[in-house]
Amino acid sequence: MTTLSKSIQGGEFLIRETEAQDVFIPEQFTEEQKMMAQACQDFIDTEITPNIEEIDSMKNPDLVPSIFKKAGELGLLGISVPEEYGGMGMSFNTSMLIADIIGAAGSFSTTYGAHTGIGTLPILYYGTEDQKQKYLPKLATGEWAACYCLTEPDAGSDANSGKTKATLTEDGKHYLINGQKMWISNAGFADLFIVFAKIEDDKNLTAFIVEKSFGGITMNEEEKKMGIKGSSTRQVFFNDCKVPIENMLSDRQNGFKIAVNILNIGRVKLGAGVLGGVRTVTSMAVKYSTERKQFGSSINSFGAVKRMLAEMAIRSYVSESLCYRAGQDIEDRMDALAAEGMPDAEAKLKALEQFAIEAAIAKVHGSEVLDFVVDQGVQVYGGMGYSSDAPMERAYRDARIARIYEGTNEINRMLMVGMLLKRAMKGEINLFEPAMAVSNELTSVPSFETIDTSELFAAEKEVLKKLKKVFLMVGGKAAMALQDRIEDEQEIMMNLADVMIEIYAAESAILRTEKLVGIQGEEACKNQIAISQVYLSEAVDKINGAAKEAIGSFTKGDEQKVMLMGLKRYTKMDPIDTKSLRRQIADYMIEAGKYPF
Ligand SMILES: Cc1cc2nc3c(=O)[nH]c(=O)nc-3n(C[C@H](O)[C@H](O)[C@H](O)COP(=O)(O)OP(=O)(O)OC[C@H]3O[C@@H](n4cnc5c(N)ncnc54)[C@H](O)[C@@H]3O)c2cc1C
Repeated sequence: MTTLSKSIQGGEFLIRETEAQDVFIPEQFTEEQKMMAQACQDFIDTEITPNIEEIDSMKNPDLVPSIFKKAGELGLLGISVPEEYGGMGMSFNTSMLIADIIGAAGSFSTTYGAHTGIGTLPILYYGTEDQKQKYLPKLATGEWAACYCLTEPDAGSDANSGKTKATLTEDGKHYLINGQKMWISNAGFADLFIVFAKIEDDKNLTAFIVEKSFGGITMNEEEKKMGIKGSSTRQVFFNDCKVPIENMLSDRQNGFKIAVNILNIGRVKLGAGVLGGVRTVTSMAVKYSTERKQFGSSINSFGAVKRMLAEMAIRSYVSESLCYRAGQDIEDRMDALAAEGMPDAEAKLKALEQFAIEAAIAKVHGSEVLDFVVDQGVQVYGGMGYSSDAPMERAYRDARIARIYEGTNEINRMLMVGMLLKRAMKGEINLFEPAMAVSNELTSVPSFETIDTSELFAAEKEVLKKLKKVFLMVGGKAAMALQDRIEDEQEIMMNLADVMIEIYAAESAILRTEKLVGIQGEEACKNQIAISQVYLSEAVDKINGAAKEAIGSFTKGDEQKVMLMGLKRYTKMDPIDTKSLRRQIADYMIEAGKYPF
């Protein structure tokens, strides 16, 4: 097991080199994990796919609850719940894998994620022993469905500003909850509500476990949504809902912390939760592009279509790579903290907090790749992509929510940079010295030492090292120039976030491929090598654009000139033949008839 001192810390990828052998790659899942994934896939094939139209029509209110119960019978709802509470007690990365597979289940993936993630985990991580024993077995088996009531009409991104009140009754035995929640997934059939409310004039929220049977809960009709139409989403009203005091979750005013930490988990899981959809849509596009003939040939004989197919696969592979890398790093950290004597739930939360940056990256990258992939999917389908009779139209609508919930992508971008700066201020990550070194390098004579690029990825790793310098240069200067005001300069924060995301993404793909080459050999991995190279060249351009924008926003004169020269130096990459590499990737996909990685 990785020890605390050896394991990488959240955000450290920006200043530390990672060896390929130290990252987890999805090709390494064990037989047991693969069996669980297969059971999940079978569940989708038998329960979801044949019923997808009916699920989305919402005409039969019993359908989703009955499918949900079947998921419970198969153990799919208790993956993260320890066996002593009726679950499967599986590892963190296994729960990521199941979220990934369920991602292909359309609106049911939201039903699943809301129940197993934000609905169940607050009790698992913050509940007392009595609360865990009372509720977790019901949730892990699907006897009860859970939902999570944080958002209010006037409190969305600013979640801590909610107005829902919890008032202690005169006999001191209950809280009366009054207020209105909005956009609550699973509300229509939930038996248990995790509710966030304020007591008296508290600054922070307090969380409560509320059973539907407590009474005083009413709701509006189902929301009419753009997509995930089969997922229940309602406004929920609490009118003197009487909650026993022992149902407070954790301490008074600890609710906002619970909400933030649970969303950390939700984010990285959502990063995984888009992957099943991404692969399915890519496979559908490959298949359609072979069947559809124009100008006497399959449309995938045309370079423009090959480019679309290849890009879908490239971004999907990269998102997979970073997601499972982050998942395993979180799991290793959880184990290392527990081995040092930290109680289990605390170790899990601490590890997740330490990797909040990577969790936010996984969410943003995954949701944007999903959007890209469904958009290209519609394009490959042409007119049929726009038809409700073909599957792309639904995929396109369903995908859009992922950039909004679990914190919008703007909030997540700001969060990842803010978190990094906070960790640097606290001395948890040493950004200062490397940033100073880059700053000194800017005004020194560049070294012209030649690098041996004969080894696989030697040249790409040099490029990555320099991209990290871009972040340190721009981030370091921005932090110095703007100080506390940096949080108000959101455009610059977003630029920095984009640089971080692309570094983590490109590096994760290269490390995954390098490790895979070590197992399967270079010839067998030539398409993964192509993917990693093309993505890196795209990342260099994106990083260049984002960094240039940031530099233009807060520097002037000579300082700006020096930084732009530095940027040029640090984003230098010899051109590669992306056209041929993308064609090679697309041909491999067409031959396989699906997303083949
Ligand atoms: C289908 C669906 C299911 C959902 N399920 C749940 C659920 O189960 N439980 C639950 O509690 N909530 C749920 N939500 C709510 C969801 O988490 C919120 O919609 C989301 O957090 C955004 O809040 P908002 O809609 O109020 O948007 P707003 O906060 O009003 O944001 C609107 C825009 O302003 C931007 N913005 C807001 N604040 C800032 C800022 N400080 N800086 C920069 N930009 C900012 C946002 O990025 C966004 O672009 C769900 C929402 C939907 C649509």
